[in-house]
Amino acid sequence: MAKERVLITGGAGFLGSHLCDRFLREGYQVIAMDNLITGDLRNIEHLFKEADFEFYHHDVSSFVHVPGNLKYILHFASPASPIDYLKIPIQTLKVGSLGTHNLLGLARVKKARILVASTSEVYGDPMVHPQTESYYGNVNPIGPRGVYDEAKRFQEAITMAYHTYHKVETRIVRIFNTYGPRMRLNDGRVLPAFIGQALRGEDLTVFGDGSQTRSFCYVDDLVDGIFRLLMSDYHLPVNIGNPDEITIADFAEEIVKLTRTTQKVIYKPLPQDDPKQRKPDITKARSILGWEPKVSRSEGLKITYEYFKSLPTEVLYQRDHKNFDRYIR
Ligand code: NAD
Ligand code: UDP
Repeated sequence: MAKERVLITGGAGFLGSHLCDRFLREGYQVIAMDNLITGDLRNIEHLFKEADFEFYHHDVSSFVHVPGNLKYILHFASPASPIDYLKIPIQTLKVGSLGTHNLLGLARVKKARILVASTSEVYGDPMVHPQTESYYGNVNPIGPRGVYDEAKRFQEAITMAYHTYHKVETRIVRIFNTYGPRMRLNDGRVLPAFIGQALRGEDLTVFGDGSQTRSFCYVDDLVDGIFRLLMSDYHLPVNIGNPDEITIADFAEEIVKLTRTTQKVIYKPLPQDDPKQRKPDITKARSILGWEPKVSRSEGLKITYEYFKSLPTEVLYQRDHKNFDRYIR
């Protein structure tokens, strides 16, 4: 019998590439679709020899064509780090809105089930802690993060509309800060920022007074939660993340210990609208999916540090993403 086919948009990115690995291991044919705006073919180069893997270089904000059957679509294409979406705001808005529309249309004609990657950013700078799925959020639509947050909120709205009006089988995952190998070292997110600084012998830059919190999930745990959600019959949003909350100042100290850097922790101004606290309530994921994270921060950080150490020196000193220029208009 022919294998079932899965389309993974953003397949050359951090999370998308791990999803490609997982679906190939599960025995699916995988199509990764990506325009490489923040992704990197090195994340999937080990897959090009696989008979069940294909790569389509395409911008999903333009009409998406895939010949043949599709069983599942996972829409992960979108810039994801604040630095990225500040540099490419229009592309961020387009991929969350037009891109999602195109993929929902594709899901409809293929009769495929689609899972969209939403984010804890739909809660904005949250007034409810920890964040439950029933919280509507506190988002500034015209602030610097608005281009990402509102695109993701629109993404959830149009996904629910396709579920309700076109009876498309939809799933929505709200992803909380996730880390692991294949994150881009220069994407500005806090973990690659701190580890990159330690590896280059620079001081670690904590923004604000470092009292803001995040809760970091290791990528394998996240991928497992996403897989379970896709296979479930639950169509409302589900938080997937690790509830182990830490202040950014304490996190910097953990990275100092991990990397044994002799550099200092220094303080820089807090960016506008930076959420003060973030921690997922994962009651739903536990009860509906039987899922909870298994990898502790100390284990996950060790693996991730080894990955960053193994990168070529030029990557360590690359300040920007090589593909941005080509897309900024
Ligand atoms: P990433 O930047 O590594 O991956 C995103 C991928 O999407 C890249 O390969 C990029 O080239 C591709 N892409 C962007 N716009 C595209 C377009 N128009 N057409 C085709 N491809 C396009 O980021 P990531 O961390 O892997 O994030 C993946 C998804 O998960 C995003 O939707 C993001 O919003 C969501 N998410 C991630 C996190 C996290 O902690 N990593 C948290 C919440 C949500
Ligand atoms: N941050 C920091 N130093 C850095 C990069 C980020 O202190 O060099 C802080 C940032 O202000 C935020 C937290 O770390 O409070 C997480 O930032 P990130 O960009 O990783 O993701 P966010 O959760 O804000 O989207």
